[in-house]
Amino acid sequence: MRVDVVVIGGGAAGLSAATVLARARRTVVVVDGGEPRNAPAGHTHGFLSRDGVEPRQLLAAGRAEMVGYGGHFLSGLVTSIERSDGGFVIHTTDLVLTARVVLVATGLRDELPSIAGVREQWGIDVLHCPYCHGYEVRDSPIAVIGGENRPFTLHQAALVRQWSDDVIFFPNGIELTTQERHALLARDIRIDTEPVARIAVRAGRVHAVDLIDGRSVPRRTVFVGPTFLPRHELLKDLGCDLGENGWVTVDPTGLTNVAGVWAAGNVVDSPAQLIGAAAAGSRSAIAVNHYLLAQDIEYALTRNQPVG
Ligand SMILES: Cc1cc2nc3c(=O)[nH]c(=O)nc-3n(C[C@H](O)[C@H](O)[C@H](O)COP(=O)(O)OP(=O)(O)OC[C@H]3O[C@@H](n4cnc5c(N)ncnc54)[C@H](O)[C@@H]3O)c2cc1C
Repeated sequence: MRVDVVVIGGGAAGLSAATVLARARRTVVVVDGGEPRNAPAGHTHGFLSRDGVEPRQLLAAGRAEMVGYGGHFLSGLVTSIERSDGGFVIHTTDLVLTARVVLVATGLRDELPSIAGVREQWGIDVLHCPYCHGYEVRDSPIAVIGGENRPFTLHQAALVRQWSDDVIFFPNGIELTTQERHALLARDIRIDTEPVARIAVRAGRVHAVDLIDGRSVPRRTVFVGPTFLPRHELLKDLGCDLGENGWVTVDPTGLTNVAGVWAAGNVVDSPAQLIGAAAAGSRSAIAVNHYLLAQDIEYALTRNQPVG
């Protein structure tokens, strides 16, 4: 099957891109592994006019719109991409596609702190993003647990105080400078330096943060700082440049340094929320269409030289 564009990843970024392309009457296939990053959460927030919708429902609606405009959706994984004849050969778990352009929207993986209870409660009441779910847990007793992602969790400890006046920061191994300590205490954020043993769960909800010294500190919500790992292996294999932070670099439209290869959403932009990922996909799609148009014009000129 030869198409104009293969979009890899059918989350907010990929589906938004594919919908714009399908409406521009480009042939487009989305290949999707079916694991959007926010799947563990019960609801999404911050997506204009879709407040509270379940993550998979949002994507199902987006998929139906995209298919309604003539786009194609394939469940499966893209395992490799090769450059060939000015285009690309895309190998999926089930078949081989060829395309003039690839748009990679494979998202990122949240590597969670290895604290008992975090994985089980992830997306329910163990959270990372107060803009996504802070309002829903407002005024509850909140714990912020530090660890590997120092700058992120320190920022989080200061930030979530906006949603609750009962916040305890457990540095959990992070050494605080005097300035950092004072900045937290000045805003009534308590600090407990005892290492965390586990998150205690009762009836499916966070109940407390258990500490190594045997204390159990009652909490209803826990914020943690995952390490954000882009799913960018396909881009790296194609020769896309990485920046100093180890992430693939793109221009404002999502174009990588490899001609014909775009990337959008969390795979190149870790803070992007759903609406930002969708916007990035849309912006990339328009740039992709302009790139294809330039090719179309060149092709038409070589075939049909105007007379006169
Ligand atoms: C717990 C949690 C809750 C969140 N809640 C919110 C919220 O309420 N509001 C909000 O705005 N944001 C929220 N977010 C952030 C949101 O998840 C991201 O902004 C969004 O998922 C980014 O979209 P994306 O399309 O870039 O990636 P994703 O949604 O992760 O989609 C990527 C897709 O690519 C697929 N894929 C990966 N590799 C391959 C491959 N090789 N071949 C084929 N397919 C592949 C994956 O299976 C996945 O379906 C939340 C995040 C988390 C972790």
